[in-house]
Amino acid sequence: MVIYDSVKKSKVPFEPLNENEVRIYVCGPTVYDDAHLGHARSAIAFDLLRRTLKALGYRVIFARNITDIDDKIIKRSLETKEPIERITAKYTKHYLNDMTALGIEDADLAPRATESIDEIVKMIEKLLENGCAYRDEEGTVWFDTTKDKEYCSLSHRCLDDDETISRIEHESSKRHPKDFALWKACKEDDVCYDSPFGRGRPGWHIECSAMIEAYLAYKNRDYAIDIHGGGADLFFPHHENEAAQTRCATHRRLSKYWMHNGFVNIDGEKMSKSLGNSFYIKDALKVYDGEILRFYLIGTHYRIDFNFNEEDLLASKKRLDKLYRLKKRLYGVKPSIPDSEFKRALLEALSDDLNISVALAVIDEMVTKANEYLDENPKDKGFKKSVIANIEVIHEILGVGGKDAYDYFRIGMSDEEIERIEELVKRRNDAKKRRDFNEADSIREELKRLGIQLMDTPEGTVWEKVE
Ligand SMILES: [Zn+2]
Repeated sequence: MVIYDSVKKSKVPFEPLNENEVRIYVCGPTVYDDAHLGHARSAIAFDLLRRTLKALGYRVIFARNITDIDDKIIKRSLETKEPIERITAKYTKHYLNDMTALGIEDADLAPRATESIDEIVKMIEKLLENGCAYRDEEGTVWFDTTKDKEYCSLSHRCLDDDETISRIEHESSKRHPKDFALWKACKEDDVCYDSPFGRGRPGWHIECSAMIEAYLAYKNRDYAIDIHGGGADLFFPHHENEAAQTRCATHRRLSKYWMHNGFVNIDGEKMSKSLGNSFYIKDALKVYDGEILRFYLIGTHYRIDFNFNEEDLLASKKRLDKLYRLKKRLYGVKPSIPDSEFKRALLEALSDDLNISVALAVIDEMVTKANEYLDENPKDKGFKKSVIANIEVIHEILGVGGKDAYDYFRIGMSDEEIERIEELVKRRNDAKKRRDFNEADSIREELKRLGIQLMDTPEGTVWEKVE
């Protein structure tokens, strides 16, 4: 596999630290609000990476943290008078529900900051011991960026940003403009934890370094983990600071590869009809099925900025419809072995830094060819079994195509409507069993008036709404 390393700014061959094993860490959400489409895109990008690596035969350990203590959460709590624990529990649950709806596989490790205070304190102690951190009069512990010779070597961005940083934080008692807080001394009304350097709470950057070190890192390699990922907005200062902390505390590098996904922009005018100006995943899910949304968001290469608009979403849905229409033709067929050439071509495309355009073209071609072949050879059972197996491969790697084909085309119908139709179908089948063909025919006519077509398959009677 070849991946684009944001630090080297080029595509590089991927070689894991340990044969056959890949350890990935992706920065997770700060749970003070609902997740937006930017979170969805990042989660989907790294979910695709994880699934691709697994399909290539690697054992993947995937970690994503939950930041459940942070200035933003405290601010939200003061504004809403809602206790911090209730805010973080609520938004963590919402986040995980959104992820499930988008078909994101659960993380193998999902550490929370509030449950990792000991690990965080341990790393700050190490940094104080190594002379890379200092404590000010109020008890805030700062990372001393001048003690890290390689500071800025990751993003190369901080050099230009001196002015911005000093403008924002010039009033604090840190020694250098680029220094950042590892441990924030307690103020009144704050959430506080005890530590050898006084009561306080962790800064955001130390959280990721400490969790990686405690739960995911190799102890005896030049790097702690294989791949560190996140949104492009995290490259500086967050990832730069993570890298510096790990370097100074452990004398080795944090990650062998760094990957960053692009932004999501909303085309306001075109979206206003259905989504308003909302950026929230939960609002998008009210309008679009999670799988359709996933397929749309996965369709643009992860490094390219994404312009969200309804026209493109509907075009993307049509592409997914085609896959499900093929699946419907194969209803009730059990899978055998996928076409090896198809699987190879799909993995080859994704092995090139997740080249999704080529991957989708490989899928389109498979669908077209399968339909053409089935037109000529509608009874070739062996072929049908291998095509169903191909669709399972797509589901495994892209996380789409896994629904029952008939259910897929019922997306958007209300539960009441579906129930009513199911009831009529059952009554017709009962009538047929009693050999009451008049009754059966009249129900069939009634269904027809509702736009419902019936088909008798080896799996029983199935129905679909004809547009
Ligand atoms: Zn992080």
